[in-house]
Amino acid sequence: MTKKAIVTGHTRGLGAALAAQLEADGWDVLGVARSGGERVDLGDPAALTVWIDGGTLRAHLADADEILLINNAGVLGPADIAGAQDPVAVALAVNVNVTAPILLTNAVLRDRPAGVPTRVAHISSGAGRRPLAGWSVYCATKAVVDHHAVTVAAEDHDGVRIVAIRPGVVDTDMQGDIRASEGFPLRADFVAMKEQGQLTSAADAARAVLAIVHADDFGDTPLASV
Ligand code: NAP
Repeated sequence: MTKKAIVTGHTRGLGAALAAQLEADGWDVLGVARSGGERVDLGDPAALTVWIDGGTLRAHLADADEILLINNAGVLGPADIAGAQDPVAVALAVNVNVTAPILLTNAVLRDRPAGVPTRVAHISSGAGRRPLAGWSVYCATKAVVDHHAVTVAAEDHDGVRIVAIRPGVVDTDMQGDIRASEGFPLRADFVAMKEQGQLTSAADAARAVLAIVHADDFGDTPLASV
């Protein structure tokens, strides 16, 4: 049984824990990030397209009996209210959080050997399902991947199951970035959550995400939460 996974953003945080746990479970993991594995800037759609067309992904999938794509890489983007956002940071967040998962899902569904069971998990966020002032870009990008999962699921591809998963509040570099966001209106709430020990470790969050991913009913509903 050849189990082939692709995990984006596997170099740190939740993605590193997901990749490690999948490898321990016998998966051959292709990691995609800027600082390790397949070095691709997911904030640059042209570079990602060149990488996809280069054939590494197709070769990884060629002998698979089972395929798993986890679109995990993400960035917070500008933690500022609309009108005060850096346009470059807006575009980067949209490209990493939205364009890259859509392009990779498209490529995996196109390049997978016919009929091989394929699961796709977008790592979403509670922010995609409720408004948080100062995070309009992050909230909007996560809402988009939620709806992308819902819509691809509705297409009813043979052997494909897709779910957008909220991982909870995880103790990673991203949470450190949030606590350091001076202009973010809800910053004090996130500082308090850390101080009160309310963050989940990346390892525990990855275990919970993978329990959803490997469940028999994965894909029955395209939105899930840890
Ligand atoms: P993190 O610690 O900041 O790690 C982000 C990962 O994404 C890194 O491996 C990074 O790798 C990769 N990445 C960032 N920009 C990239 C780019 N331009 N190109 C390629 N890779 C890039 O984040 P995390 O907290 O683990 O978050 C993982 C996912 O969970 C994200 O989608 C996030 O939105 C979601 N999430 C997190 C929380 C939380 O509380 N932490 C809550 C809800 C949802 P390189 O730096 O090597 O490129």
